[in-house]
Amino acid sequence: MSDDRRVAVIGSGPAGAMAAHELIRKGIPVTLLEAGDDIQHGRLVRIGGINFFRRLPSMQRASGFVATADPNTNFDYTYALGGLSNQWTGAVPRFCAEDFTAGERVHEKFRWPVSYHELAPYYEIAERVMRITADTVDVLNLPAGYCDHRQRIPEDWQAVARSAFNRGQGFTTMPLADGPPLMLLSRGTAFNSYSVLLEKAHKEGAFELVSGAHVLNLEWDGATRKVVAAVYHDRATGTRKRIQASAFMIACGPLNSPKLLFNSACSDHPNGLGNSSGLLGKYLHDHPKEWWPVDLETPITTLARPAYLTRLPHAKSDPLLACSWTIGHLGMASKINSVLRQKSRSFGVQVFGTMIPKEKYYLRPSADRKDDFGLPVLEVHLEFEPEVQSNIAGARDQLLAVLEDAGYKAKIRELVPQLIPGFAKHFGGAARMHASPTYGVTDTYNRLHDVPNVMVVDASSFTTGAEKNPTLTVMALAARAADRLASDLRAM
Ligand SMILES: Cc1cc2nc3c(=O)[nH]c(=O)nc-3n(C[C@H](O)[C@H](O)[C@H](O)COP(=O)(O)OP(=O)(O)OC[C@H]3O[C@@H](n4cnc5c(N)ncnc54)[C@H](O)[C@@H]3O)c2cc1C
Repeated sequence: MSDDRRVAVIGSGPAGAMAAHELIRKGIPVTLLEAGDDIQHGRLVRIGGINFFRRLPSMQRASGFVATADPNTNFDYTYALGGLSNQWTGAVPRFCAEDFTAGERVHEKFRWPVSYHELAPYYEIAERVMRITADTVDVLNLPAGYCDHRQRIPEDWQAVARSAFNRGQGFTTMPLADGPPLMLLSRGTAFNSYSVLLEKAHKEGAFELVSGAHVLNLEWDGATRKVVAAVYHDRATGTRKRIQASAFMIACGPLNSPKLLFNSACSDHPNGLGNSSGLLGKYLHDHPKEWWPVDLETPITTLARPAYLTRLPHAKSDPLLACSWTIGHLGMASKINSVLRQKSRSFGVQVFGTMIPKEKYYLRPSADRKDDFGLPVLEVHLEFEPEVQSNIAGARDQLLAVLEDAGYKAKIRELVPQLIPGFAKHFGGAARMHASPTYGVTDTYNRLHDVPNVMVVDASSFTTGAEKNPTLTVMALAARAADRLASDLRAM
C-alpha cells in the first residue's frame, strides 16, 4: 500500500495505541506523534497472581488547563509513551447493551450512535491484547468478555451474588488487565499501551514513532476541504515541525483532544475544528468517586481478586444515574490472607457514580490566559451537583443492604470522599458522538461531522458516561474507527 495513505495517530495512550495497532494490522502505514519521550519507569512484582510490590511513576500537573467551576479540579497527568496506562489499575468491564441506549429516556441527544452488538467484536479485539483475569459468565448489567485467566468469586461470596441477583444486580470478578500470574517488570503496570501494542511494530516499516512531538494544531486546506498536516513542537530541537497524512486520529485524552481541536481554528472553522454546531467542549462529564473500608461482623473469604457489584437495573433507576462498586483488598495483610485463603472481616470499596451530561459543563479556550506554547489555556468547567452527590451517597446503604440480605452485617468504618472533578481520570464527552450533527461533534465512526478525515477516538467521544471504568470502551471504539478508516483507505 502506498505511503499516501499514511495515517497520523496523535497520542500513544490506550486509545491511540489501539487505533495504531489496528491500522498496522490492516496494512495501513502509521506515524504516531506522542508528546512524551519515553515510557515511565516503575516496578511490578507479581507472584501467584498477586501484586506483591508495585511502584507507580508519579504524575505531573498538566499545564494548559484552569478550573472555572470547582477550584479543586485535579489536573495530574502523564505525558509519556503509553499515556495514563503508565499509572492505571487495569479494570476493564464492558458496557452493557442498555448503557448505550438508556439516555434516550432523557433525550434523543443521549442516544449513542453505536450499539453494544456492533461494538462487541471490537471489545474482544481489545481484550485479546490485554491479558485479562475475569470470570467468563455474563451477570446482570455486565456482559462477560474474553479473558486469558479465569477467576470465580469464592464460594461464601456466592450468597452475595444471589442477594445482588435478587435486586437485579450482578456480582462477579472485576475484569482486570493485570497480566500473567508471574511478572517482574520495570514499569508499574502490566498493560502499558505503548509497550504492549506498539513497541514491536517498530521493526515493521509501516510504523513510525515520533516521540517528544507535542501537536499544536491541525492544518486545514480550504481547497481540498480536508486536514492535510499536523504541526508539532519538537521537544528535542525546540522547533516547530509539520507532518502530512491522509487522515488524523486524535487520541490525546479527553481534555487534550478537544484542546487540539480548539487550537486548530482557521478561517473556515473559526470556533475550532469540528465546531460548526457549537458543541465542541460541551457536555463534559466525569465520574464522582468515593472510597470506604467496610467491616463485617462475620468473616468471609478474602478476595484474591477484586469483585464487582454492578449497577441497579436501568428500569428501576433514574435515567443516566447509577453507581458501581469494586470490592478489593485492604492493605498487605489482606493480600497475604488471600494467598493463604484465610477469611477476614474487612475490605475496601471503590464506588464510581455517574452524572447526566449537561451543556453547562464545558471546556473552553480562555480569552486571556496562554499555555507554554502561547496557545489559549482551556477552562475546565465542571462540578458535581447535589443530585450527583446524593446518587453516590446512596451507594453506601445499597451495598450494606446487599450484604445484609446475604447474611453479612456490615458497617462502613469511614468515608474517604473523592468528589473532585478529574480525580477519577475519567473525563469524557467534550467531542461527543451522535448520529446527527445537531447533537454530536463526531459521527458513528468517531469522525468529525465537519471534517471526515479527522477522528477523535478517546473518551471525548462518549455520548454519556456509564458507571463503568471507561478505557476498554475507549479502546473498542478506537479499534472500530481504525477498522472503518482502513477499509475506506483500501477502497481508495
Ligand atoms: C491511577 C489511575 C488508575 C486508573 N485506573 C483505571 C482503570 O482501572 N480502568 C480504566 O478503565 N481506566 C483507568 N484509568 C483511566 C485510564 O488510564 C484512562 O482512561 C486511559 O489512559 C485513557 O486513554 P487515552 O489513550 O484516551 O488517553 P491517555 O492515556 O491520557 O493518553 C493520551 C496520550 O496523548 C498524549 N498527548 C496529549 N496531548 C498531546 C498532544 N497535543 N500531542 C501529542 N501527544 C499528546 C499524552 O502524552 C498521552 O500519551 C486510571 C487512571 C489513573 C491515573
